[in-house]
Amino acid sequence: MPEKGVKCPLGDVTWAKCEKCRVSPKKVCHIPVPMLNTMRQHESITYSPSRLLACDRQFILERHYEFYTDIDHAYAALRGTVFHAGMDALSTGGVKEKRLVDGEFSGKPDVYWTETDKKGNTLITVHDYKTVSTLSPSMTEAVIPHQIQVNLYAYLIALTVPNPVVKELQIIYFDMKRVRIFSSMPGRYAIEKGERIELQEIKVKPWEWDERFIGKRIAERKQHDANFAATGELPKQLPRDEQWKCSRCAVHGICADYSARHGESMPGFSNAFATRSETQAVRGE
Ligand code: SF4
Ligand code: SF4
Repeated sequence: MPEKGVKCPLGDVTWAKCEKCRVSPKKVCHIPVPMLNTMRQHESITYSPSRLLACDRQFILERHYEFYTDIDHAYAALRGTVFHAGMDALSTGGVKEKRLVDGEFSGKPDVYWTETDKKGNTLITVHDYKTVSTLSPSMTEAVIPHQIQVNLYAYLIALTVPNPVVKELQIIYFDMKRVRIFSSMPGRYAIEKGERIELQEIKVKPWEWDERFIGKRIAERKQHDANFAATGELPKQLPRDEQWKCSRCAVHGICADYSARHGESMPGFSNAFATRSETQAVRGE
């Protein structure tokens, strides 16, 4: 089912009405028009790295219900879109935001480079940007789902070149005060208040691991879809320590209604960026 429009101070507003409102004196939201213009881009792509790593329940709800995206929840993503556009404009070289497709699975790395070495291998470098509200100075490891995501981008690039080998994967976190780069190359560190902080490498997965992960997650999603069609049952909520993601969820209201009807606790609104236990939980996949 489609994203029908936006939930804003004017209520549930369809896209057509929102587009008219944007250029009229009725506009009461404080989101600038160029940002609003990027909003209606909810991925129709079914299986992408970020979608496969996101909440199963959200996936089912977005497919089966019409929904209005909460403007306040969408703001963080809109800010991220603007930031990515700025980085694209400033970057020189590399392939930017190109969608790569492998059957049902597809993804769009932020930027990547390929080069051929003397042995005829194609060396792949991928950079993935992440805008976050707060970046902890003591963060020493990239969030595991983000590590998986950048590996899956490398996998998609690998399908397009001969003898692919990962040269470097980078995840670059930005908040309003600092930037931190995690790399698959060893030896990276940060200096905070004069103290050296060793940063862990991004783990590079074998191509077979990526392939298995994609197959497993797509099969799980299809199973959830079939269950929902047969019984109306939704997959579980995200675990409590991952519910910081709920604050960006477009179908939070529908999930909350279902939770209330089924005696579940309300899906949370924690603003914590990521927790250690989430990192460990996802590593088990
Ligand atoms: S322009 Fe802003 S206030 Fe108007 S409908 Fe869209 S989101 Fe709501
Ligand atoms: S509110 Fe949270 S648990 Fe519910 S669908 Fe959205 S992300 Fe999943």
